[in-house]
Amino acid sequence: ASPAIDPAGATPVMAQYFEAKARQPDALVFFRMGDFYELFFEDAIRAAAALGIAQTFRGTHGGQPIPMAGVPVHAAEAYLAKLIRAGFKVAVCEQMENPAEARKRGSKSIVHRDVVRIVTPGTLTEDGLLDARGANRLAAIALRAGQAAVASVELSTGEVECLLTTPAGLAAALAGLQPSEILVPDRLFADETVNTALKAAGGVVQPMAAALAEPSASEARVKRLYGVDTLDGFGGLAGAEVAALGLIAAHLEMTQAGRIPVLSPPRRAGEADVMAIDPATRASLEIERTLSGQREGSLLGCIDRTVTGAGSRLLAARLGRPLLDPAAIEARLDAVQWFVERRRLRETLREALKGAGDMARALSRLALGRGGPRDLGTLVQGLKSGEAIAALAAGENRPLAETPAEIEAALTAADPSQSGALSELLALLDTGLGPDLPAQARDGGFVAPGVRAPLDEARALRDDSRRVIAALEGRLAAESGVPLKIRHNAVLGYFVETTANKADPLFQAPLNATFIHRQTLASQVRFTTVELADLDARIAQAGERALAIELETFEAWRQAACDQATAIQAAARALATLDVDAGLAEWAEDANAVRPQIDKSLCFSAEGARHSVVEAAVKRAGDPFTPNDCCLDGSGETGPRLAIVTGPNMAGKSTFLRQNALLAVLAQAGSYVPARSLKLGVVDRLFSRVGAGDDLARGRSTFMAEMVETAAILTQATPRSLVILDEIGRGTATWDGLAIAWAAAEALHDTNRCRALFATHYHELAVLEERLAHVANLSLKAKEWNGDLVFLHEAGPGPADRSYGVQVAKLAGVPPVVVARARQVLERLETESHSPVRLEGLPLFEAAAPQPVRRGPSPVEEALKALDVDGMSPREALEALYRLKGLS
Ligand code: ADP
Repeated sequence: ASPAIDPAGATPVMAQYFEAKARQPDALVFFRMGDFYELFFEDAIRAAAALGIAQTFRGTHGGQPIPMAGVPVHAAEAYLAKLIRAGFKVAVCEQMENPAEARKRGSKSIVHRDVVRIVTPGTLTEDGLLDARGANRLAAIALRAGQAAVASVELSTGEVECLLTTPAGLAAALAGLQPSEILVPDRLFADETVNTALKAAGGVVQPMAAALAEPSASEARVKRLYGVDTLDGFGGLAGAEVAALGLIAAHLEMTQAGRIPVLSPPRRAGEADVMAIDPATRASLEIERTLSGQREGSLLGCIDRTVTGAGSRLLAARLGRPLLDPAAIEARLDAVQWFVERRRLRETLREALKGAGDMARALSRLALGRGGPRDLGTLVQGLKSGEAIAALAAGENRPLAETPAEIEAALTAADPSQSGALSELLALLDTGLGPDLPAQARDGGFVAPGVRAPLDEARALRDDSRRVIAALEGRLAAESGVPLKIRHNAVLGYFVETTANKADPLFQAPLNATFIHRQTLASQVRFTTVELADLDARIAQAGERALAIELETFEAWRQAACDQATAIQAAARALATLDVDAGLAEWAEDANAVRPQIDKSLCFSAEGARHSVVEAAVKRAGDPFTPNDCCLDGSGETGPRLAIVTGPNMAGKSTFLRQNALLAVLAQAGSYVPARSLKLGVVDRLFSRVGAGDDLARGRSTFMAEMVETAAILTQATPRSLVILDEIGRGTATWDGLAIAWAAAEALHDTNRCRALFATHYHELAVLEERLAHVANLSLKAKEWNGDLVFLHEAGPGPADRSYGVQVAKLAGVPPVVVARARQVLERLETESHSPVRLEGLPLFEAAAPQPVRRGPSPVEEALKALDVDGMSPREALEALYRLKGLS
């Protein structure tokens, strides 16, 4: 923080600024001055740097020039977006009255200003600041009595949720929500578990005074937020949940300057309801975004066929948190199937949805006092789409008994004609709003003619006067004999204008009795007349009056809409649900996906399954994708619990592992799956640990990171979990790595007893099949064809026979001399090998050394010891190889 500036001796406006800034020390203050938001002092310097705008000076304070930077109000949104993305908080300090009002109040020159809102990432509602397809959640965490709670709110839908977990479960809970802002009581920063969870979750962390999470304070605040006397109606919230909700309430009070958004009662999601997927697993499976952060190329990006922003957000929410209850999953699948079987209806419905607009976000803006006529228009659009869709479905041959409950409920909620109040609102707005809707009510012109008689009168007066003015122009020109025009601008209002060289007669008697001089420009002279001034005043008055009536009308309509907030939110959610169900059906058809069979067994049996994202990429390249089966059974009855997956690099091991994990995610999210069939006993926790080589971008030593994640799996996986482990142990020396992989496989089998796929390049692990009861070997096949390697990408029983490393090196473009030499070395190794295990590391080079009998370490061995194989790039490895060759 910069040294505080002494406000003493400030000008009246600056005094007002200092007052606002003092209340918002950690936010940039956007101080409204006319058509600009101005920033001063340190704020100006920081904002100018972040936005790349000019920083100037305005007047002085304490003898020093005051640094200033400003953004025009009409373009403020784009600048706000940039600042929020850069991690700033912005307090918007508005002019609360116009100068005339200030004068009436007795204030000489200064208008009253106040902070109307603090903009933070989790409380954005403007379309321009939000990704239409991405959720924007504000979350808060709190710990109490050994429990941890995550409360979250999505302001645009008003949905509030609480999740009760343990401190160790915080990371997975936050990852499932992907909040853009997380409120944290400041003393929790001392807690290592909390810090780790926050780091993994992403999102801007907002420290809150710990006192705000105290029991009585938070309870009082939550009651105030909901306007209730007791929290009992919310079904016995735990202390940690109330504390987390209390933080959200405090933050909303603070940032929304007392305006309360329309919120649903907190929905309580137990840990028992959703599949736990920790952040590392989520990232490595690329469920919602790719490792590089894009939505495109992720599972979500691949299956999303929704046509509305709200639908897309709901799909992301479902995929992010798959369910555990088979009945709830079946209910979703029923809805998808219904649309799969009704292609025509689906198409017309999707077409109708495209025009639906984003009712949820429009409503949230209206409720927070930031909405305008265009948002009311969005409500009309949305409600009308709901009506049209319900009518479509009604025309469909659908005996009630066969319509899935989810669809039936959605059709009812989306249809305004099912509720008297909603259809009244729709009728009110639909007849009331004109065709051109401005974003802001103060721009006027949005109330249709014939709705408000006084408004029509004011407008008629204004328009009449304009007609009179048009006639006046002709009359004045004829009477004076001077060519002149009547024009209008904001400063003078209406005026008579003529060119300078023709103006003389107007200054002379008798015309100077009519024409009153106003302004002389280089080539024009401007006048007014009594009649024109009178008409001008009448137009201005009529305009003001019309605007006042429009503003009043807008406020009444806004209120009427907010009174129906719950029903509108339900309708918006219903449309989103229909969009998701129809979109998933659309994808299922495109992707040739099938309905999974879900139960509470411990079975995982996939036939002919595919990885949708890899499949799409492979097909774009013109190749076919090979479907594969995978059979696991936690009970050990119909298949192995643990499959050891081997095969050469590039054979498709990772793809195979991930595709099976993704089948579980898709199925439990309520989607069809890309397979010929899938039988799935619900998975409670999904874990994925991928090879060290794959995430070098992380800060921690990769081996350390790998072991931390492996530890988490071994301590948390239950018999109902699904684990995929890809190449663990690769990040350390060969023997270490093999030992760790071996022990981890045994532990998964004996202790965790979960379903697991274990891909490894340690072919030695193949013997586990004989040693352990529920282990089987699987391998991805490759064939040699005329000295080249052909990958079949086909998973079959049994371990891989060899690793084809040399062939892969050739495919990768290692120079032919090196490949040829490697072949030689390998041949020698294979014929002469006395080592019990053949590994890619040391023995290769040992064999290359000429003398089989060694006394003490040779120079080559010395040099070898010094090599850090894991830390080398392929190029460095190649160079090292040449150097070693030189030594021998
Ligand atoms: P590994 O983990 O064994 O090194 P990957 O799973 O990374 O292999 O697969 C390597 C490449 O092979 C993928 O990028 C993809 O292009 C292709 N591939 C993988 N599985 C299949 C499959 N089932 N059918 C067709 N191509 C596949």
